[in-house]
Amino acid sequence: METKLLLPTQANIEIVGKALRDGLLVGIPTETVYGLAANALNGNSVSEIFKAKGRPSDNPLIVHISDISQIQKFDLVSEIPENVKKLMRSFWPGPLTIIMKKNCVPDEVTAGLDTVAIRFPSHKITQKIISSANIPLAAPSANTSGKPSPTTAMHVFHDMNGKIPYIVDGGICEVGVESTVITVAEDVPVLLRPGGISIAQLENVIGHVEIADAVLNQLKDGETAQSPGMKYKHYAPDTHIILIRASDEKFAEYVNSQGATALCYDEDVKNLTVRCYSYGKKGDYASQANRIFDVLRQMDNDGVKLAYGRCPESSGDAMAVYNRLIRAAGFEVIELA
Ligand code: AMP
Ligand code: MG
Repeated sequence: METKLLLPTQANIEIVGKALRDGLLVGIPTETVYGLAANALNGNSVSEIFKAKGRPSDNPLIVHISDISQIQKFDLVSEIPENVKKLMRSFWPGPLTIIMKKNCVPDEVTAGLDTVAIRFPSHKITQKIISSANIPLAAPSANTSGKPSPTTAMHVFHDMNGKIPYIVDGGICEVGVESTVITVAEDVPVLLRPGGISIAQLENVIGHVEIADAVLNQLKDGETAQSPGMKYKHYAPDTHIILIRASDEKFAEYVNSQGATALCYDEDVKNLTVRCYSYGKKGDYASQANRIFDVLRQMDNDGVKLAYGRCPESSGDAMAVYNRLIRAAGFEVIELA
């Protein structure tokens, strides 16, 4: 199959809207990362997403809408609890995915769970594509399963060339990491994935939010994940990454002495004598989120075998990048006191 890259003109948005209605897969830009979209109401189309990505079939997908009224129109959930309404008012459209008790959503989307994950993206092109298709779209990140997520149309082309008919090029994704995922299906809200909306922002609106253990820690053998995606290898480039938790000085001293590649902050570059890939400014978590996946992919393109990475902070606004990098490194961390 030839994969066409399309600019987001009105004519092209109509072409992909029809393709989605006809059951085809389309790579689409969003403010978080690029998605691999299909008609969320058609189980057969949704199955094709799992094939194209090589995604385990027990890992459910997020359903994307372009208007809150579509939840009712397509009868996606059984009820919208009060705290969910508050979250919707505060953070939609935007990078927040909310898990609720499902109603009419095919089992292929939800991996047989009785809940469904829903998001209303803020990216104008995403909204236009959903509106043009006139159906909710199931869309995971548009990468090969296990690999770093795509933040440009060329990243999607790299992973999906020959497998899908269209990719809409909407430029670089502004947020750069996936949406925050929160479940309100139980009594206490639980953060299942940190992302574009921080835990502090959520707690400002609905009070205390628990953090699922697997957000920051590796699942132990036999432990069940609250979100199926947590149990899989994720975001990992071919490059072997080892994270180093250390001061500026200790990090530079260690990496220089090893002579391998560094995955570091912009400010580290001047202290390093090795090849450097910087993933943003120290303390500037938005810049780190915006660049991390592109840098991981660049290291693969350059054939880097081993890189020592600056371990980001793990709390507050830094949590989203930490969650991605610790998985990219397979939880391998060296502590230098
Ligand atoms: P991705 O589609 O790659 O952005 O990943 C979506 C994430 O949301 C995965 O980690 C899924 O496990 C999680 N997810 C989607 N639906 C549900 C659900 N109903 N319950 C729990 N987690 C979910
Ligand atoms: Mg993904």
